[in-house]
Amino acid sequence: MRAERHLQGPADGADVTILGGCPVCDGDLAVRIAGGRARGFCARCSRLSEPRIIREGERIHVIHPAAALA
Ligand SMILES: [Zn+2]
Repeated sequence: MRAERHLQGPADGADVTILGGCPVCDGDLAVRIAGGRARGFCARCSRLSEPRIIREGERIHVIHPAAALA
């Protein structure tokens, strides 16, 4: 049993919510992963984004390109 909580490699087509994951307003970011790509949507500021998803073992890292932060 793990005490640590983190994202665990969701299957293709899965939806994950990243708390505080919005790069703009720190709102919760709903991310849908499909076809190896991710689409993020922040309900707070209505911002759409295409974060990069990097899988590392059981974890996934969600990275927002710096250019998207302008
Ligand atoms: Zn936001």
